[in-house]
Amino acid sequence: MRLERDVPLARLTTIGTGGPARAFVRAHLLTELEEALHHASADGLEVVVVGLGSNVLAADAGVDALVLRLEGELAEATTSGEVLAAGGGATNAVCLHRARAAGLGGFEFACAIPGTAGGGVRMNAGAYGREWADVLTRVLVSTAEGTDWLAPSELSLSYRHSELPPGSVVAGVEYRLERRPVDEIKATVAKLVAQRKATQPTNKRTFGSVFKNPLAELGAGRMLELCGLKGHRIGGAVISPKHANFIENEGGATSADCVALMNEARHRAREQYGVALEHEVALLGPLELAEPST
Ligand SMILES: Cc1cc2nc3c(=O)[nH]c(=O)nc-3n(C[C@H](O)[C@H](O)[C@H](O)COP(=O)(O)OP(=O)(O)OC[C@H]3O[C@@H](n4cnc5c(N)ncnc54)[C@H](O)[C@@H]3O)c2cc1C
Repeated sequence: MRLERDVPLARLTTIGTGGPARAFVRAHLLTELEEALHHASADGLEVVVVGLGSNVLAADAGVDALVLRLEGELAEATTSGEVLAAGGGATNAVCLHRARAAGLGGFEFACAIPGTAGGGVRMNAGAYGREWADVLTRVLVSTAEGTDWLAPSELSLSYRHSELPPGSVVAGVEYRLERRPVDEIKATVAKLVAQRKATQPTNKRTFGSVFKNPLAELGAGRMLELCGLKGHRIGGAVISPKHANFIENEGGATSADCVALMNEARHRAREQYGVALEHEVALLGPLELAEPST
C-alpha cells in the first residue's frame, strides 16, 4: 500500500475543483483496501472514497481524511450466467461493455452515468426510470472491522440515497441481469446516449445533477430555468445554459464558486416556489450550503 500526501482532488473530480486530500491511497486488492482502512482507523482518520468523482464537490481547503480510489482487481468486471460481478471501482462503462458482450441486458440505463459500481450504490444512481436498487443482488462492504456481503435491503436504498455503514467502502457488487440480444442492447444505448447529448451538457466539466428533483410538479432543472438562472455565472462556474440543474466549470472555477451558485439557486427556488432544494452532489470536506432566505 502506497500512501500519498496532499493529492489535489481537482484531478480526481469531473468538475475539476477541490483542494488536496490529506492522505490518498489507490487500493488494487481487497487486502490493500483492508490495510488502508485499518491504517485510517488506527490514525483516527475519516475515510472517503472517490470513484470517478462524477458527483462530488470537494472543498477548496482540501479534505482532512484518507481518500481512497479503487483500481486494479477492485475495478474489474466479469460475467457468469446472468450475474455481472464488479469491483467497487469498476466503471459503469466497463460493466456495460462486459454485459453487452455476454448478451446481458438491464444495465443500459447506466450508459449515461459516468461513475463506478461503488458510487452507483452509494448514490443509488439511476436514469430513465431505473436505478441501482433494481439490478443489485448483493454488495461487498469493507470497514475497519472486516468485509461482508450485504443484501440491498440492508442499505435503505431510495431516490439517490443509501445508508451504508459509516466509514464503509463498497468493495464489490453483483448485479442480476437478463438475456437480451446484443443488437437490442446496442440500439437502446445509442438511443439513450443521443437523448442525453440533446438535453444535458455532456461535453462540459460538471458533477451531474446539482439538486435532487423535489416532490413538486417541476423538476429541479425546469424550476431553476424558470427562475431565470440558465447562464448565471459566479467566478469560473456557470449554471449550464443547456440544463439548469448542472453547473459547468468554464475554466478556473473553484468549489466556492459552485457553492455560491448553489446558494443562489436555493434562494431563488425558495423565493419563487417555496421549495427547499436538497443537494444531490456529495460535499466533501468543510463545505456548507447557506439556509435559503425568503
Ligand atoms: C455528465 C453527468 C451525468 C450524470 N448523470 C447521472 C444520472 O443520470 N443519474 C445519476 O444518478 N447520476 C448521474 N450523474 C452523477 C454520477 O455520475 C453518479 O452519482 C455516479 O453514480 C457517481 O459515481 P462515482 O463513482 O463517480 O462516485 P463519486 O462521484 O466519486 O462519489 C459519489 C459518492 O459516492 C461515494 N463513493 C464512491 N465510490 C464509493 C465506494 N466504492 N464505496 C463507498 N462510497 C463510494 C463517495 O464518497 C461520494 O459520497 C451524472 C454525472 C455527470 C458528470
